Amino acid sequence: MVGYVVYGRGSFNQLDEILSPVRKPDAPMIFLVDHFFSSTSGNKLLSRIPLKGKDKVIFADVSHEPKTAYVDELARQLRAEFDTVSGIIGIGGGSTMDLAKAVSLMMTNPGSSADYQGWDLVKKPGLYKAGIPTLSGTGAEVSRTTVLTGPTKKLGMNSDHTPFDQIVLDPELTANAPVNQRFYTGMDCYIHCIESLQGTYLNEFSKSYGEKALQLCRKVFVEKKSWDEQSDDQLMMASYAGGMSIAYSQVGVAHAVSYGLSYLLGTRHGIGNCIVFDKLEEYYPEAVYEFRKMVEKNKIEIPQHLTGGLTDRQFDTMINVAMGMKPLWENALGKNWEKTITREKLRALYEKL
Ligand code: NAD
Ligand code: ZN
Repeated sequence: MVGYVVYGRGSFNQLDEILSPVRKPDAPMIFLVDHFFSSTSGNKLLSRIPLKGKDKVIFADVSHEPKTAYVDELARQLRAEFDTVSGIIGIGGGSTMDLAKAVSLMMTNPGSSADYQGWDLVKKPGLYKAGIPTLSGTGAEVSRTTVLTGPTKKLGMNSDHTPFDQIVLDPELTANAPVNQRFYTGMDCYIHCIESLQGTYLNEFSKSYGEKALQLCRKVFVEKKSWDEQSDDQLMMASYAGGMSIAYSQVGVAHAVSYGLSYLLGTRHGIGNCIVFDKLEEYYPEAVYEFRKMVEKNKIEIPQHLTGGLTDRQFDTMINVAMGMKPLWENALGKNWEKTITREKLRALYEKL
């Protein structure tokens, strides 16, 4: 679990105070900042980063979701430039936060981040790491994984060393996110809740957080007439609680299928989940109905016909990635999931997307 949590509008201003005790002499803090904040519309945040001494800002290129090669390269550059580093601070959406977690781990663990894609393969704690979300929904701020696309698979570094030491949840930082992006990332949270609450791994811990997160998602995307400041506050808490819910359970069908889509076509996580969830009435009928209502109410377009021109081999690649997500299927459908989920069934589902 994350060691320290600060929540509140303007809490970003406490960053200097938060980092002071964990700074080591002559060892810089590395701020890995979503590249959106290098643009003129986003650069107000930069002047608020409490830079000291040899501290460095690196803009995270999140035009694509994080790859193991990029993580390895960032860690290699930092090791070459500095003898010691105090910590890695990730400021951005789920992609940037995941990069920060992975780079922190690869500063202390040997080899490539691809060697650690799986469950409990990371052996040593990383450097001090803090996460500061600028989009709400993924739960990456609280999770024990960092999702990476590697040479052979898309899979997280799931380990007890992966969670941040500290997170700063300041809803003001999400205020200007584009409407579509906000919806797609917000729906990631909604889908986490549904998959957790309707899964076989469910327990009272996951249920308590999942129900709260779902209630907040509904306030924001179903009940409100229009977006307001409170919506940013609520969605940030929904993201946190949704992440806590799956920390002790698992996601399900939408994530397993969406991973295959994203591995082959590079479809981003939030939108990919929406594309898949829209077609999952067989597994989550009531939630899919509610999802479609939210799409309509929030005037969002969900892309269609992505897989029209794909070859058999490409379908097989997606099916292989999806089939590999065993814990997700087991959570969704129980221990005998392989009786229900066949390659033919997945092929038919992928053809609908
Ligand atoms: P993202 O981080 O991929 O960012 C999407 C886009 O939004 C980028 O172009 C980014 O520059 C921009 N952006 C970020 N903050 C902004 C702001 N305040 N205003 C305007 N633009 C902004 O999006 P995401 O949906 O937050 O994250 C998806 C990623 O999170 C995927 O890589 C996914 O695999 C990962 N993820 C991780 C976990 C986990 O538990 N570790 C869980 C779910 C998803
Ligand atoms: Zn997700």
